[in-house]
Amino acid sequence: MRLLFLGSGSAFTVGADNFHSNLLLISETGRKLLLDCGSDIRFSLHEADLCHRDITDIYISHLHADHVGGLEYMGFRALFDPDCQKSNLFLSQDLAGELWEKTLSGGMRCLEGDIATLDTFFTVYPIKPKGQFLWEGIQFNLAPVIHINTGYFVMPSYGLFFEIAGVKIFLSTDTQLCLDVVGSYYEQADVIFHDCETSQFPSPVHAHYHQLVTLPAAIKQKMWLYGYQPGSLPDAKRDGFCGFVKRGQTFEFL
Ligand SMILES: [Zn+2]
Repeated sequence: MRLLFLGSGSAFTVGADNFHSNLLLISETGRKLLLDCGSDIRFSLHEADLCHRDITDIYISHLHADHVGGLEYMGFRALFDPDCQKSNLFLSQDLAGELWEKTLSGGMRCLEGDIATLDTFFTVYPIKPKGQFLWEGIQFNLAPVIHINTGYFVMPSYGLFFEIAGVKIFLSTDTQLCLDVVGSYYEQADVIFHDCETSQFPSPVHAHYHQLVTLPAAIKQKMWLYGYQPGSLPDAKRDGFCGFVKRGQTFEFL
């Protein structure tokens, strides 16, 4: 099983040197699970010598455009390209309705002679609270994270905790540093892929490098950083991390 970072940049990454942090898990059987599908996806797939036809399955963590903005492209390609199969779409049940009603239906609802639903484009698997989904024999557990707290409610956003070939992996997706919520995953994981903002002008909605660098050495030494801004980066290895993930970097789990 191979994990490929189609991109490792933030929502605001520009230029061809990096793309949105969308990942691809590639199984030995040839199935390909896309972990988030941002508006960069056609370009990041192309850069990896892949295209919409290669994607068999998609997981969506939350509804920002760098995570869902490529779904209109993928859905329409699946519908109108006779050589493209409909993808399976895994996501928390509280995201499924909003994904269609508030994000995709404006552009995708009207078809010539028909009215579409999310199921027109994808085979949807809504996931229950504290739930999981199975893909290629791997159980992916949804890990709720704190990405944005409006003061009234926390925006639904779900990282993943899963195990491949005996290696326990925590993928944060977009999150603030919230030890009380995901600290146990840091402890359990053998490898952590963590959202890391590097901006000079930090937003409050992503873990920033300055915060992550204060974590215990035992955590940092299994942590890869992604989701960073363009520009110069700190020396993450010197600071005890595994490093910043580069666009196109792959991880093999055998
Ligand atoms: Zn986000």
